[in-house]
Amino acid sequence: MNDEIRPLIAGNWKMNGLSADLSQIRSLALALRNDPAHRCDVLICPPATLLAQTTRICLSGAIISGGQDCHTGQHGAHTGDISAAMLVDAGASYVIVGHSERRSDHGETDGLVNAKARAAMEAGAAPIICVGETHAERLGALAMTVVEKQLNGSVPGPEAFERRVVAKNLVIAYEPVWAIGTGLVPGLEDIAVMHSAIRDWLFERFGDEGAAVRILYGGSMKPANAKKILSVPHVNGGLVGGASLKAEDFLAIIRAA
Ligand code: PEP
Repeated sequence: MNDEIRPLIAGNWKMNGLSADLSQIRSLALALRNDPAHRCDVLICPPATLLAQTTRICLSGAIISGGQDCHTGQHGAHTGDISAAMLVDAGASYVIVGHSERRSDHGETDGLVNAKARAAMEAGAAPIICVGETHAERLGALAMTVVEKQLNGSVPGPEAFERRVVAKNLVIAYEPVWAIGTGLVPGLEDIAVMHSAIRDWLFERFGDEGAAVRILYGGSMKPANAKKILSVPHVNGGLVGGASLKAEDFLAIIRAA
């Protein structure tokens, strides 16, 4: 793994998982407890229905838990929504915001993602802000432009909070939309170019504090490709969907880090 940043391997269960599937998290916690040498932070973001139980299991394995989305407010008349304060109350330390599935399924804009990221920080959770281009945008050589626009709009500026506080609590996940759940992965050179550009953007936005922000890669990360992807400069961990559902696969990715 590159840099001096402690990597983060984050599992996004999406809308998957019933109580019976907590056995996967139990297995993971047990494996990590017996092998505490892993040199990365391990995060599971289960569906909200399993968050409190996940948090309890995670404690025994030095794993942390997180949410997959939050509202922009902390409480109020918003039937069916879940606030960052509620996620933190159930044990979340992180909240994914602006995942491409939220952006496409729910029409989430950069401005909304920005407000959600602020709400997460206000509640005491670190936002994992997702950005990434579609296949058409990649083919049209627009990937960099699109990601930069998403960063400009989705990441709270240093004026919102103290610069150090934002930088310390922020995680960016670069997830090319066309790589999510498809088995397709960009070339390592393309990942390197994008992560390096995101690092430059972070320096521009946060000054020296931008060096500490973790930039995760997400999109069909698997045991077979994790080691190579995680060794690309400025890749400080992974956001893992499908391969986080089975303890064995997720553990292999954690070990690759
Ligand atoms: C994701 O959901 O963020 C993701 C990267 O999914 P997958 O690993 O399944 O491509």
